[in-house]
Amino acid sequence: MDIYMPGCSGVEAANVIRQHSGYTNLPITFLSTESGLSNQLDALRVGGDDFLQKPITDSHLLNAVTIRAKRFRELSQLMSKDSLTGLLNHINLKLFLEREVASVERHPAALSFAMIDIDFFKSINDNYGHPEGDRVIKTLARLLKSRLRECDIAGRYGGEEFAIVLKNTSLEDGVKVVESIKRIFSDIQFKAGDSHYSATFSAGIAQWKPKMTMSELIVAADEALYKAKNLGRNQICT
Ligand code: GH3
Ligand code: MG
Ligand code: MG
Repeated sequence: MDIYMPGCSGVEAANVIRQHSGYTNLPITFLSTESGLSNQLDALRVGGDDFLQKPITDSHLLNAVTIRAKRFRELSQLMSKDSLTGLLNHINLKLFLEREVASVERHPAALSFAMIDIDFFKSINDNYGHPEGDRVIKTLARLLKSRLRECDIAGRYGGEEFAIVLKNTSLEDGVKVVESIKRIFSDIQFKAGDSHYSATFSAGIAQWKPKMTMSELIVAADEALYKAKNLGRNQICT
């Protein structure tokens, strides 16, 4: 981004971009003849990450930006993923959902959100140990990654809780997707020492409706999950 631009300066534009929480970690590199240190610091203060000095050849600019973009992608992978499962962590899943809600608000489309919670997980830990519990969490995470479409995003919402953002998906279709994952998961035979056991999960799904905020969508899915637990677990409610 240039510092001096018509209509809106680079520093002003960076300021606006940084007001959107979804763009907090978007790297911004300034390109300018500006050599005054205080102006450079102004640019960095509003959320610029770096400064390139003009004049710069095309190939140098291309290289400088490519290197920074690559480094940024590596770092953001580390920051946004849950370390046990490699799924998005809580905060990044919510940022993703926030963007999707904003997107359907502008261009109406079906959007569903599902929350999944492993049933009686505490007793898996108690009976077979914490590392075995971790294995169950990782197995469900792998299953989510393999069964969801490219455009769906799954995250680890908390300990043994997961959430899925289902783009372009109605409530009925969302239920079908989660139902098939539920069936496969409950069929898995886990082996701990000499004993075998299986696990189940409960899920709540809600579909976004016009004017609904992200928080309202999450609450709706959470209430549906609560209902599924109360109705006896190992089921999906909407
Ligand atoms: P419910 O069917 O109502 O969901 O019962 P539950 O036992 O699954 O739920 P509860 O909230 O009582 O227990 C969740 C347990 O998950 C408690 C906590 O120690 C455990 N837990 C949270 N994070 C992890 C983790 O990363 N690894 C393992 N092994 N256990 C975890
Ligand atoms: Mg739980
Ligand atoms: Mg649970």
